[in-house]
Amino acid sequence: MIDFAIPEDIRAVTDTVRRFVETEVQPLEAEVEAQAAIPAEKLKAVKAKAQALGLYAMNMPAEVGGGGLSTVEMCLVEEEFGKTSDALIRRVFGQVYPMLLACTGDQRARYLLPTVSGEKICAMAITEPGAGSDAAAISTTARRDGELWVIDGTKHFISDGDIADYVIVMAVTDKEKRARGGITLLLVDKGTPGFSVARHQPMMGHRGYGHAELVFENCRIPAANVLGEVGEGFRLIMRSVSAIRLCHIGARAVGMARRVLAMMAEHAQSRRQFGQAIGEFQMVQQMIADSAIEIFATRSMVLNAAWEIDQGLEPRDKVSMIKVYASEMLGRVADRGIQVFGGSGFSKDLPLERIYRDARVTRIYDGTSEVHRMLIAKSVIKNGLPL
Ligand SMILES: Cc1cc2nc3c(=O)[nH]c(=O)nc-3n(C[C@H](O)[C@H](O)[C@H](O)COP(=O)(O)OP(=O)(O)OC[C@H]3O[C@@H](n4cnc5c(N)ncnc54)[C@H](O)[C@@H]3O)c2cc1C
Repeated sequence: MIDFAIPEDIRAVTDTVRRFVETEVQPLEAEVEAQAAIPAEKLKAVKAKAQALGLYAMNMPAEVGGGGLSTVEMCLVEEEFGKTSDALIRRVFGQVYPMLLACTGDQRARYLLPTVSGEKICAMAITEPGAGSDAAAISTTARRDGELWVIDGTKHFISDGDIADYVIVMAVTDKEKRARGGITLLLVDKGTPGFSVARHQPMMGHRGYGHAELVFENCRIPAANVLGEVGEGFRLIMRSVSAIRLCHIGARAVGMARRVLAMMAEHAQSRRQFGQAIGEFQMVQQMIADSAIEIFATRSMVLNAAWEIDQGLEPRDKVSMIKVYASEMLGRVADRGIQVFGGSGFSKDLPLERIYRDARVTRIYDGTSEVHRMLIAKSVIKNGLPL
């Protein structure tokens, strides 16, 4: 028998997250938007509450202090996270990259554990001015010099790069091999000589956290700061990205779109024009119906792929499909949300215009829609539809 029921215990967890987001986090959104920063004292208090409830670093295994959730469970939790802004999700619930599980020896105490416990913030530096979609074409290099690695290069658009306590830097260690054994991940602490934040890169959305250009000039780090094996960095990233794309883009998009749909449904009943509720007008109904259909489809896709990951499968093509569909679905739903609210939708009185701006980047990062479509098409031409 195929069972699609969500077990009671995970329902209890998602109910807790939903209530927490609604009562503790959403009330901070307007202030974060206005100030482009999370007020420090308020953040300290709400993060402590989240941690006390076990809502921090829920994506990480219990052995390292994380939530120990399965991928299906994590997606259901991410759906609730999606009902607030990315800046607040990062700071209140943690942005802990699963690649950190490759930490060994004293790296665990210096990087993995303090990041899971919320003492340290980590940034992930892959993209460069000359290499975005084609990540294997990076030009940042790391060369061995005795007991040290010497890093040279520039990274840009790095989320939290301005405040991170340390950065996972992707660098070429063998120009011949590149993605096939010539790219390595290195852990670089803030304050290391030769590492600097060159400039802030303000964005259209995601107010409340920064994106930065990072420069490495003759930056010397201990040999012990290699994350995983030398030359295995590209593969390490590729192994972790499916879960990140599925949870951070797919499931979060469902949550964000559900919030918009709930607002649309409520407004359709309360707003009256021409003597009747606007929800009586078929053109408004269509916007609501299309949004509901697309959210349901996305949610089903997300949970299907999450279940496969939990079975030990690697549904890469499905995750690419979800990345494309979820991000584009969110853009359409956010757009319809604004339309249903009319002028109020465009105003800053409501979170809709923020969601509309924040939604836009989901089609760009973690692989653009075009790159994922290319991968899907190549795979379907060769192997058929992955059902
Ligand atoms: C808000 C934000 C946060 C980010 N955070 C991080 C971060 O924390 N760490 C990090 O490393 N990076 C980060 N990035 C960078 C992000 O991953 C890249 O922007 C993304 O990979 C796209 O690369 P690009 O911007 O260089 O675009 P390009 O690769 O130059 O693409 C430009 C256009 O060409 C198209 N294109 C490229 N190749 C193909 C192809 N083969 N077929 C068809 N079309 C193609 C693309 O789809 C796109 O439309 C962030 C970006 C943003 C905007």
